[in-house]
Amino acid sequence: MIYFDNAATTAPDPAVLETFNKVYEGFWANPHALHGLGERAEQLLEQARAQVVELLGAEGSRVVFTSGATESNNLAIKGVAELHAARGKHLITTNSEHPSVGRVMSWLEGRGYEVTRLPVGPEGSVSAAQVAEALRKDTILVSTIVVNNETGAINPVSEIGAVLREHSALYHVDAVQAVGKLPFDMGAVGADLVSLSAHKFYGMKGSGVLVLPERLPLPPQLLGGAQEFDLRSGTADVPSAAALAKALRLVVERREEAARHVVELHERLRTGVAELADVIVNSPHTGSPYILNLSIGGVRPESLVHGLSEQGIYVSTASACSSKDGAPSAAIMALCGDEERARHAVRLSLSHLSSAAECATCLNHLETALKTLR
Ligand code: PMP
Repeated sequence: MIYFDNAATTAPDPAVLETFNKVYEGFWANPHALHGLGERAEQLLEQARAQVVELLGAEGSRVVFTSGATESNNLAIKGVAELHAARGKHLITTNSEHPSVGRVMSWLEGRGYEVTRLPVGPEGSVSAAQVAEALRKDTILVSTIVVNNETGAINPVSEIGAVLREHSALYHVDAVQAVGKLPFDMGAVGADLVSLSAHKFYGMKGSGVLVLPERLPLPPQLLGGAQEFDLRSGTADVPSAAALAKALRLVVERREEAARHVVELHERLRTGVAELADVIVNSPHTGSPYILNLSIGGVRPESLVHGLSEQGIYVSTASACSSKDGAPSAAIMALCGDEERARHAVRLSLSHLSSAAECATCLNHLETALKTLR
C-alpha cells in the first residue's frame, strides 16, 4: 500500500494509540468527578493541556479540547463575532480557506456582519500588506489558514501577526496542516487563537484544540455542564486529550528531520510529474513540501483516484471534504482562476513515513494510468 493522502488524515502513530488505550483502560473515570478516580483522570487532562501550551509556545493562553478543527474554527469565529459585535462587525479572511472557516464567514454575512475575503495571488497566499490595507476601525477578527490543505500554499502568518500587533482585531489561524510540518510558535506568530485537529498529526479523529487568550470570554457554542472553562460543555475525553498531547510532542520533536526527508520526496515527485504530458503542478515552490497538487488534463480526477486505488495507491481529488460533490476546487480556482484546471485537480500528500521507493512506484503507476484512461 502507498498512502499519499496524509492531508486528509494520517494513520495513528502506534505510540499514540498505546497512550490512548492505556489512558482509556486506566483512567476512564469522569475527570469532573470529585472522588480519587476522577481526580486522577483530571490530572492527566491538565497535564495534556499544559503540554500543548508548551509545545505550541502558547504561554499565557488557554487550551480548550474540542472535537477537531471544524469545531475549533466555529467556536473561535462565531465566538469573537458575537463577543465583539458592539465594537464592530467587520472580519477579514482569504478566499482560500477550509469550509469550516469559509462557511462560518458566509453564515455571519447572513447575520449582518461584513467579511472581506482577500484574494490569494498566484502562489496561493495573501500578503501582510493586503491585510494591512483591508483593516478598518471596526475590524474585530482576521482569520487565515497557515498552510492551505489543497495546495500547500503558506500564508505569511508572522508578518500578518506583526501588522495586527498595532490593531485591536484578534488574529485566528487554522494551523491544521502546519503543526509538526513547519516551525510553529504561537507567540512568535502573534496569533491570538489557533485551531488544530489531532488526526492530521497521527492522533485520534474527533479530537482537536482551540487555543485562545486566557481572559477572552468567548460565548460557548454548546451549553451544558460548563466543562473546559465553560467554552465546551460535555464530559472531557481524557484519552483523546492525552493522545493529542503525545502526538503533538512526537511531531514537534521530529519536525526538522521529517521535513528534510519530505522535501527530498516532494522534489522527486514534482520533477517526475513534470515529465508527464498535460500535467500542471498547482502547488507553489514556496509551499509546504507535504502537499503536491496537480491538474491532469484529459482524465477525470475521480477515475484516476479509483484507478490508482485499485493498484493500492491512495491519493485524493482536491480535498476529502469536497471530493464527493464534483465541483471545481475552490482553492485552485482562487490560485489560477482556471476552471478546467480546478476541475482536474489531484492531490498527493506525504508524511515522514513516505519513501523514495513509494514515490517512484507512484510515478510509474501514474504514467500507466494516464495512458489507460486517456
Ligand atoms: N482546517 C483544515 C486546513 C483542514 O485540512 C481540516 C481537515 N480537512 C479542517 C480544518 C477540519 O478538521 P476536522 O475535519 O478534523 O474537523
